[in-house]
Amino acid sequence: MADRRVDPDDGAAYTWEEFSAYYKGKYKKKAVDEYWEECKPVKTKKGKAKGEGKGKGKAEPKAKAKVKAEPKAKAKAKAKAKAKARKPPGAFKVCVCGGAGGIGQPLSMFMALDPNVKELSVFDLNIAMVPPAGVAADLGHLDKKSEVKGYVAEVGQPAVTALDEECLKGCNLVLIPAGMPRKPGQTRDDLFKINADIAKGLVEACGKHCPEAIIALIVNPVNSIVPAMAELYKKKGLDPTKIVGVTTLDCVRASKFVGQITGKNPNFINVPVIGGHAGVTIMPVFSQDKTAASIDKDKIAELDKRVQDAGTEVVNAKNGKGSATLSMGYAGARLGRSILAGLAGRRRVECAYVKSDITDLPYFTSKVLFGENGVQKVLPIGELNEYETTRLEEAKAALKLEIETGMKYAEANELNC
Ligand code: NAD
Repeated sequence: MADRRVDPDDGAAYTWEEFSAYYKGKYKKKAVDEYWEECKPVKTKKGKAKGEGKGKGKAEPKAKAKVKAEPKAKAKAKAKAKAKARKPPGAFKVCVCGGAGGIGQPLSMFMALDPNVKELSVFDLNIAMVPPAGVAADLGHLDKKSEVKGYVAEVGQPAVTALDEECLKGCNLVLIPAGMPRKPGQTRDDLFKINADIAKGLVEACGKHCPEAIIALIVNPVNSIVPAMAELYKKKGLDPTKIVGVTTLDCVRASKFVGQITGKNPNFINVPVIGGHAGVTIMPVFSQDKTAASIDKDKIAELDKRVQDAGTEVVNAKNGKGSATLSMGYAGARLGRSILAGLAGRRRVECAYVKSDITDLPYFTSKVLFGENGVQKVLPIGELNEYETTRLEEAKAALKLEIETGMKYAEANELNC
């Protein structure tokens, strides 16, 4: 029996003949081959392939087109095919700045595994725990198509000149976990001063070498760094919507904790987390997920607090010797993969901290539609219950001050690119 694979575009199973006949002429052969490699093989049951027996997928070339033309699926399939036509999957270049660090290494690994990634630059300083060339050599042995290259700069050199043009040129996405984690006794302001300068250097280099790239900032404090970098981009005449704050770990944790309480699979739980990315600005909207909404109302405040303080659980468990790096690598890559899928024409919705006009604050975390241009649309907050309405005001009051810190930094500085 011919190998059948599920096309994620419509969820149906096809043979290679049906698949290639359908996409022939729409995309280059190489892109079709690569897309086929992305499709999961069908698990057979008693020798029968999924889709067989339902009248789907006889081996004639027209069969797939016919399936797509079923009345209900027709409009959806057409829209998806049109979106796909804009960019074939699997041709993107990604850079991870701070790629040899605690978050950077797992993040680089997840990105190297993404079928949409053609080239991955791992960039770090000469003081990193391992040379970035070593991380690249290691990841370069994975049996994936991504080509991984390492780039190093000396501490103190401005990134805009230190960064090899080859590292960033042509990048579609730059992920930035480069920066210092917060040390005991350090204030948020102290951390901001150090990390804002690191982020500025890297954003400057992006402005020069890849101004079209989406820049996903992981470096803390995200609540202030993102407005600072976006306003600097705007001041330079560049597009501030290219700057995206990574808050995905809050959503990942909220869904996991809801799964633990309800006994349901977190893979099918999707709790939006809005507001910002620190303390009370982290606001899970449990009422908007069916499973989370089933939790007793009197348990919500405690669960809300657990999501806000989840980073401390990891720091304590690591005995102060590190913070969330593996789960952050996973979460950052989830956003990274969604951004690339969007650029490839397969739109995705993820929560992210971006320039926004859905509240009276200029920057806010909410659901964002990622598409062909990156941030395609910032989606509204949606309905909130009484508890969440009160929490929103608390989150906004705290976030406002942190945004102001970022705005002041942008006023006092400028990008030299
Ligand atoms: P780490 O110290 O293990 O790694 C940071 C890496 O950045 C190091 O390899 C360092 O050499 C590199 N670096 C520093 N300055 C650089 C520069 N100018 N150019 C290139 N590389 C540079 O730290 P980590 O645990 O990976 O954390 C990194 C950052 O991510 C911290 O600011 C931390 O607070 C933040 N963080 C964010 C989230 C989130 O949800 N957004 C979660 C956890 C941690």
